[in-house]
This record gives sequence, C-alpha cells and structure tokens, in this order.
Amino acid sequence: MKNVLKTVSFKPGERNVFFHILTACNLSCSHCYINPDQHGTKTLSKDQIEDWLTLFAVPKKKSNVIFLGGEPTMHPDLSYAIRKAKELGYFVTVDSNGYLFHDLLNKTSPNYLDFLSFSLDGPDSEVNDPIRGEGVFDICVANIKRAVQSGYNVSVIYTVSSKNINQLEKMVPLLKKLDVKKFFIQVIGLRGVSRKSADKEKIQVSREQWLKVVPKAAEMAAESGIHVTYPKVFLERGEQFECAGNVAENFFIFPNGRVYQCPLCEDHPIHSYQIVDNRLEKTDGLTEDQFFQLKIEEGCVMNKLLQPDTIEYDEQGKAVYQISCCLLKQEIGRN
Ligand code: SF4
Ligand code: SF4
Repeated sequence: MKNVLKTVSFKPGERNVFFHILTACNLSCSHCYINPDQHGTKTLSKDQIEDWLTLFAVPKKKSNVIFLGGEPTMHPDLSYAIRKAKELGYFVTVDSNGYLFHDLLNKTSPNYLDFLSFSLDGPDSEVNDPIRGEGVFDICVANIKRAVQSGYNVSVIYTVSSKNINQLEKMVPLLKKLDVKKFFIQVIGLRGVSRKSADKEKIQVSREQWLKVVPKAAEMAAESGIHVTYPKVFLERGEQFECAGNVAENFFIFPNGRVYQCPLCEDHPIHSYQIVDNRLEKTDGLTEDQFFQLKIEEGCVMNKLLQPDTIEYDEQGKAVYQISCCLLKQEIGRN
C-alpha cells in the first residue's frame, strides 16, 4: 500500500462543531488561545451542553463534535455529554491536555467516544514541558498508554512553533511506540496568550522552516502507519484560495454563547452568531462574515489583518504566495 498525500478541501455537507464546554484549565501553556476577556470564565451546565448539542445537530449531515476547553475533562458531566452527542449522531472527539480528570476512561467507552486526542508539544519532557508545564509530558504519555490499553482510538496534536519544530520528526517513533492512530500537526497562531507574548514574532515559523520540516515529518509518520493531518498554510501558484467561512460549516462555540465561524477571529467580538435562550441568533454590526467576502491577493484576510508577518512580498510589492485558510488541511496516510 502506498501513502497518499491529498489536500482536503472543505467537505461539502459536513459540519464541524468545536464545542468549548468550559474555559477553566489546570495548565497554563505558553501558546494557549483561550482568552477569558472574549470567551468568559463560565462552565456550561449539563442541561446547556445537551441543549446546545441538540441545537447544532443535523441528523442528515455528517457532523463532528470536538469537545474542548480549557480542559474538557475537568467538566464533571463530560461523559454524559459524550453519550448524548453519540445519540444525536455526532462523530465524537475529546481534545485533552492529558490529565483525564473525573476518571474519563472508565466513565465513558469507545462505543461513544470515537477519538480521544492528547496534546503533546515535544517528544520528551525537555521540549514539551517548558511549553506545557512541568511534569506534563510524563502524565500525558502515561494516560495515552492507559487510553490505548482501554481500547480507545488515540490521536495526538502537536502545535508547531520555533520552540519545537526541530523536534517534530522525533515524535514519530514515540507515536508508533504508543500506538497512536492519528497525528494532527498544527501551526502556532498569534491568539490568546501568544498574541500578548513579548517574543510573539520569534515563536512563529518561517515558510522555509515549515516546508523543510513538516511535510517530511508527516511522510515519516505516514510510513509508520499513522494517519497525519497538517494545515496547508502556503498555497502553491495556481492553487485556488477558498475561505472556509464562505464554503464550509464550522462552528466554534464558547461558553459565553459566542459562536465563531473562523478560529482566527476568536480574540475579537466579531462572532457571527450568539446563542440566546437556546436559539442561534445572527449577530448585528461588524462581524467576521463580512471579512470573509473580501478578496485580497494575500489569500486569507484575517491572516493579513492579524498576522501580517507571515506574508512575503517581492520587490514590486506583490505577495510571493497566498496564505491558505487555516482550516484547509493536507492528509497523508495509507490508501
Ligand atoms: S492550551 Fe489547552 S491545555 Fe494549555 S492552558 Fe490552554 S486550554 Fe489548557
Ligand atoms: S482563516 Fe481566513 S480563510 Fe479561513 S475562515 Fe478564517 S478568514 Fe476565512
């Protein structure tokens, strides 16, 4: 069997619901995108979670729900939420920092939870822990092992920054040893804590670094049987730019009721919708969807506004390449 690389354009008819059920977390990672000024500090009640899951469920469409936080396993009713989501027809994922509070592995089951995703930002504690916190690597790896032994499908998310890009390849033997099925490589965004950090320019990776390291590491992981997903980031000449906000159904829900369609917008009060009394209401005024309509030669409008350092211009002032939508992914795995 051969590894096949494909760019996954936004899948028509598929809905992705990124559901932040609380914003509290036991960790304080240096690149955390949670911004309490914008997302609040609330924990949703069990009833609210059920109501909001129902609000976004469209039985005839393939719908994915990803439970997020903060740390979603800190919510005492997460296992109930997982079961409810499955009953509503969602493909269910939980993204955890690895602590697995409230005995999650025993409180739910692989019958309800399709994927349990762990965040690791380094192949060892020397790389991971300065980013995610002291002792985090060991706890996360121990719980990945427990999850795999308990029969869960496990994936790992790695957020690439200048602090850990050179260690990305070393993740492959670790993931293989841990029997991880999927590997999600993300690129650091200047959101939340990163946006305010003093060395924010220094933590971003250049196009050159990204292209040198990430596709090769992804290929290596795929060679060892792991399915890899990573953002496209830079479009090649001739590739068509599309904004997911115009052509896909992605909802990023926060416990204060804000619903965004674009993750880059989450630091600003420009959300498209607000949940009011369990109804999804369109927000008035300047909202993110008005930005989605703008056509610029640099590709993604929000990237140009919020992270202009990622764009290179030639001597005539023309953009050398377009920045893709941050939701456009490439996948590589066995066909
Ligand atoms: S990145 Fe995730 S695990 Fe880290 S502090 Fe933020 S919410 Fe917690
Ligand atoms: S990242 Fe850019 S292209 Fe993607 S949804 Fe947001 S504004 Fe649109």
